[in-house]
Amino acid sequence: MKKPYLRVTKWLADIPVEACCAMCPNHLFRAVSHQHRPQKGDFQEQLQKAFDQHLKEVHSNTTDSLNGNSMS
Ligand SMILES: [Zn+2]
Repeated sequence: MKKPYLRVTKWLADIPVEACCAMCPNHLFRAVSHQHRPQKGDFQEQLQKAFDQHLKEVHSNTTDSLNGNSMS
């Protein structure tokens, strides 16, 4: 079974600036720079947080109900 994970789609040098959910290729997450220079850790955190939120909103039932869902 496939699991959703965060897949980076755009890099700025070694900084991830855009990512998508591996199971929802159309769902893009973008990191926004609050400073003049993008901070790697900050961007990673933003993408991770957005992805966590997406997991809760979209995939919470797929990850929770692995032990049989009769409503198919
Ligand atoms: Zn997804």
